[in-house]
Amino acid sequence: MRTDDSEVAKTVWWKSAGSRPQTASIEAGRRYDVAIVGGGIAGLTAARHLARLGMQVGLFEADTLGSGASGVNGGYVVPNFAKADPDAVVARLGEDRGRRLLALVGAGADRVFATIRDNAIECDAEQVGWMHVAHDARSLDMLRVRATAWQKLGRPVRIFDEGEARARTTMRYCAGAYFDPAGGMLNPLAYTLGLARLAGEAGVHLHERARVATVVRTGPRWRLGFGDGHVEADRVVLATNASSIGAARRLFRTVVPLRVYQMATRPLAPAEAARIAPGRNPIADTRATFFTYRLDRDNRLISGGMPILPFRAHARMGHAIARRLASELGLADVPEVEHVWFGTAAMTTDFLPHVYELGPGFVGGIGCNGRGIALTTMLGEVLAQAASGTALADLPIPTAPARAIPFHLLARAAPSLAIMHAKWTDRHL
Ligand SMILES: Cc1cc2nc3c(=O)[nH]c(=O)nc-3n(C[C@H](O)[C@H](O)[C@H](O)COP(=O)(O)OP(=O)(O)OC[C@H]3O[C@@H](n4cnc5c(N)ncnc54)[C@H](O)[C@@H]3O)c2cc1C
Repeated sequence: MRTDDSEVAKTVWWKSAGSRPQTASIEAGRRYDVAIVGGGIAGLTAARHLARLGMQVGLFEADTLGSGASGVNGGYVVPNFAKADPDAVVARLGEDRGRRLLALVGAGADRVFATIRDNAIECDAEQVGWMHVAHDARSLDMLRVRATAWQKLGRPVRIFDEGEARARTTMRYCAGAYFDPAGGMLNPLAYTLGLARLAGEAGVHLHERARVATVVRTGPRWRLGFGDGHVEADRVVLATNASSIGAARRLFRTVVPLRVYQMATRPLAPAEAARIAPGRNPIADTRATFFTYRLDRDNRLISGGMPILPFRAHARMGHAIARRLASELGLADVPEVEHVWFGTAAMTTDFLPHVYELGPGFVGGIGCNGRGIALTTMLGEVLAQAASGTALADLPIPTAPARAIPFHLLARAAPSLAIMHAKWTDRHL
């Protein structure tokens, strides 16, 4: 069942997300080979891969499929890290694991678009490339280093000089850009529901409104408690991202949750859309107060932002983002706001994804740090490997016991401080 008062129903994606897959009621006491907790990109991908290996898989989603970050995000498909450069990843994880993680991350966007093509997922996907604009010469040097590192790994990325970059954007601050042709954009809710359809077709039992309160070891198996009943599973995958509901707290304590607002304008006139994004590729920039924009299929402008304080942010953020769009892109008027919504992203302290061992046969995965469409698709595959018996040490994503961030309650204030710091850093721009 869908509720129209949830955050996902406020998104621009909601009306064009297409049909929903069949879900079923929980069969109390049922036993599965693997139980998946969380119905976003990570959980659905893991579930589908496990079912295709012949396992009995049950997926349990607290709200509706795609109602978490997977269905409310901006839809930018970006095959790299938000903060980490390839050399830093290898320095941190060592040559072997570092390189395997880089290969996984670099392949993410192509995997997303191939999955969409091969399975006829209707989600307005456009693999038109992703552009990271340098706001000054120093940032362009930093992007050059990044591009060289990815090129050495065989990725087809390139640097645009100022003229080439300005031919693709009307952004005020533009000294050049990093361009990754594998990136692009899509309707993230439609993509997630498409993954749910594929999981269902593979034989996964999909359950909505199934909030897993507890996961406890009982003899050789795990028991998932729902408050008024339970199911059992030999193995469990926790794919609950930044949620703090029930069993999700095990992962929640390992990340800093970040509230991110998104906004969609009314459709722009075709000529105006072609002027500000002639290649239609989604764009971000390098400023501390980074700026992003893309078009949707109807030429609505979509952009995001983070409030310093959450109070009354809903009322403020849409117009604040629209004003910024007008000034950054040189629009004649501030565009009219049609949709405003928010979601919670999960940031890890090292900005890398992690797989956590939560018990024998019980794993969790998290930490796509705002690059979640491509990276979470890959994380789902890795979680499936972990749940089907691959030794955790052999996975391409770093594994460790799940440790809570010290003083987690205080750490949750870090984003507000980071936004203030970013505004201070960019104060002269
Ligand atoms: C506003 C916003 C914009 C973003 N923009 C982009 C972007 O443009 N591009 C990009 O690549 N990434 C973006 N991201 C990041 C990306 O959306 C996420 O990294 C990714 O969707 C995470 O997927 P997931 O499956 O791990 O988690 P989710 O999609 O959050 O799924 C977790 C699910 O678990 C369920 N759940 C939680 N607790 C329980 C429980 N106890 N029992 C049962 N179910 C439970 C939740 O209801 C939820 O549906 C953005 C994130 C946000 C919030």
